[in-house]
Amino acid sequence: MSTQRHDTRLDRFVDSYADRTNGMRASAVRALFAVANRPEIVSLAGGMPNIKDLALDVIADNMARLIRDHGAQIMQYGSGQGELRIREKILDVMALEGITAHPDDIVITAGSQQGLDLVTRVFCDPGDVILAESPSYVGALGTFLSYQTEVVHVASDDEGIDPAALRDTIVRLKSEGKRVKFLYTIPNFSNPSGLTQSQARRREVVDVCNAGDVMVVEDNPYGLLTLEGEPQPAMRATDPDVIYLGSFSKIFAPGFRVGWVLAPHGVREKLVLAQESATLCPPVFSQFAIADYLEHYDWRGQIVTYRHMYRGRRDAMLEELSERMPHGVSWTHPAGGFFVWLTLPDGLDAQAMLPRGVNARVAYVPGAAFYADGQGSNNIRLSFCFPPADRIREGVQRLASVIEGELEV
Ligand code: PMP
Repeated sequence: MSTQRHDTRLDRFVDSYADRTNGMRASAVRALFAVANRPEIVSLAGGMPNIKDLALDVIADNMARLIRDHGAQIMQYGSGQGELRIREKILDVMALEGITAHPDDIVITAGSQQGLDLVTRVFCDPGDVILAESPSYVGALGTFLSYQTEVVHVASDDEGIDPAALRDTIVRLKSEGKRVKFLYTIPNFSNPSGLTQSQARRREVVDVCNAGDVMVVEDNPYGLLTLEGEPQPAMRATDPDVIYLGSFSKIFAPGFRVGWVLAPHGVREKLVLAQESATLCPPVFSQFAIADYLEHYDWRGQIVTYRHMYRGRRDAMLEELSERMPHGVSWTHPAGGFFVWLTLPDGLDAQAMLPRGVNARVAYVPGAAFYADGQGSNNIRLSFCFPPADRIREGVQRLASVIEGELEV
């Protein structure tokens, strides 16, 4: 068999693509991967969880048992909503953040990324508005734009979304005849800002949205990865109309691709229809593997181990930033999750600086990726999740030198 690739003339399909396909963009993070993975480069760019210390032997034994005992079931098609066995166990996970729910209202997805896709597909027509905090998760922005929605960022400060700005934005957009579908928010240890919304803010934000008939979509993959104190109650814990997205990617492992959406009953039915048309059913094998993990493994202990490991890395990054960064650079102090958000002095451009960073053997994600409207040019997202502490320190030192160089020009 020939292995030669057949190169179609590049422009052959150009006129055939759907309008929405033209809105699709390669993620800035993915585009950086090839460079960032070179061994001499310290990558503070990717947000890959660090799973190298998982007890693979134990997991392998459990998987072998699972296949032996239930192979015929777990290798078969399953429910479009997801398997009851895992949905029941997910209640225990969400209980850690004060959520009480019924397993019927959970839809299993291929990671929370697919949850974002299904929610957008179910609610949004082209031209609809989705509100997002400033800055917001690049992967969500990509999904929203692929459905030809308009993303409007709402001013946010260290405590989260500014409720007055949110109210004004909703009123303004509605007066312009726009249909505002939902607010997308990451209240805990946000990607990319690392910031957490205070409980008071969460209540205000939900109240403003309810008053303006705007749904709230709460995306919470990092909520259990607290580096200080205990997990906070989720927004969904206080309002059952909030649509909640959860994931096993950060508290266990991303390769299984299992996440979930918790939604009010009617919405849940639509999500299942959307899931069935997208995949027939979410990956059955992965769901059973995770259900088994939750039943037979000390998963709460694993989360504590992760917290400890990430805390060491975060501390290394914050210490090194305060020792090395030149005057005029500021950054957030995350109490959990994976990310620190850096603000460069006015006039510096993080995108333009990136090639100098790569020359100095450090990679980061320029902040503009986290806005749909061109803001963020003097911001940088740094991840502390993957490299070991000494590499993180080295990376921050290199970055500090690059910024110093820019300031001297
Ligand atoms: N939401 C946020 C805020 C994320 O950071 C990520 C992963 N980077 C996701 C959703 C998607 O995660 P997954 O699909 O692996 O659950």
